[in-house]
Order: sequence, then structure tokens, then C-alpha cells
Amino acid sequence: MQKVQSDLEEEVLHVLQDVTDPEMPFISIVDLGMVEKVEAEDYHVFVKLLPTFSGCPALDMIKGDVLEKVRKAISKWNESLDIQVEFSFHPPWTTNRISEEGRKKLNLNGISPPPAEHKHGEPWEVDCPYCGSTYVTMENIFGPTACRSILYCDECNNPFEAMKPIANLNEKVE
Ligand SMILES: [Zn+2]
Repeated sequence: MQKVQSDLEEEVLHVLQDVTDPEMPFISIVDLGMVEKVEAEDYHVFVKLLPTFSGCPALDMIKGDVLEKVRKAISKWNESLDIQVEFSFHPPWTTNRISEEGRKKLNLNGISPPPAEHKHGEPWEVDCPYCGSTYVTMENIFGPTACRSILYCDECNNPFEAMKPIANLNEKVE
């Protein structure tokens, strides 16, 4: 993300920390790496978001939530501020954009996070989010959402989910 320049931009970014993906309500869109740009100029606030693997209904909800929360927060600056929220595939979102904090939150919620630096085609190693063991078995490649898999830990005997690493969003349709 670009460097935040003004107090207003900082405030907008702060508000975005309260917006989550409805499929993963415990992690903000900032920690998920969805926020690419926050710009505030004159009477115009612009927020550029990168869609993840979430489907359209989730994206619509996120956009609505951003508009509502940002509008509420900035009305004290200037009532006539205009807000624009745009989704863009440039640059494409990847799981490498998830922050350290975001990875921790996934882990705390029983979802093994994807590796911090994943390159396309690299083998993917999963640690159990409960005990850290790599002695795990894939139960079902298709979890509750397309981006998550169900695994089973052979060390602590817990089933858990893992988020698939995505270095390129097109991978999922190949
Ligand atoms: Zn375990």
C-alpha cells in the first residue's frame, strides 16, 4: 500500500480496520491485504480495494460496509465529502499480502495461514494451528469456502482448516 499522507487518509485507514470479510469476520480487510489505496483530496475520498477469492455477495457487503463506516467517520471533517470505493484486479491480490497480524488471527481461529512468501507452483506445507505439528493429513480439499481446505492433525487429533496459498488469483480457475 502507498504511504498514508494526511490525517484524513489516516482516519479512513483506521476505520477500514473495522471492516471484515463476512466469510472471515475475525480479520480486517486491512490485515487481509485488500486495501491498496486510500486517497483524500479536496472533497473526495477514494478507496481502492483488491478482491480476494470471496464471491460477489461478500464483496458487495464489504463495499457497503466501507461506505457506511467511512461516511460516518468523516462526516465530522466535512459533510460534503464524496466517497468512492472501487474494486480493482491491478495489482492482483495474493495471500502474500496478508499481514503478520492477519496470519496470527487466522491461526487463533483454527485456520492455518498460507505461507508468508508463496511462489506459484511451490509445494505448500501446512502447520497445525493448535500444536504446530506438520504431521497433518488432508481430509477434504474443498472446505467451507473454495479457498479453504479441511485437514486433520495426526499429532493432537484436531481437525482444522487451512487457507490455500494463492500467488496468482487465476490459479483457482486453472
Ligand atoms: Zn495439532
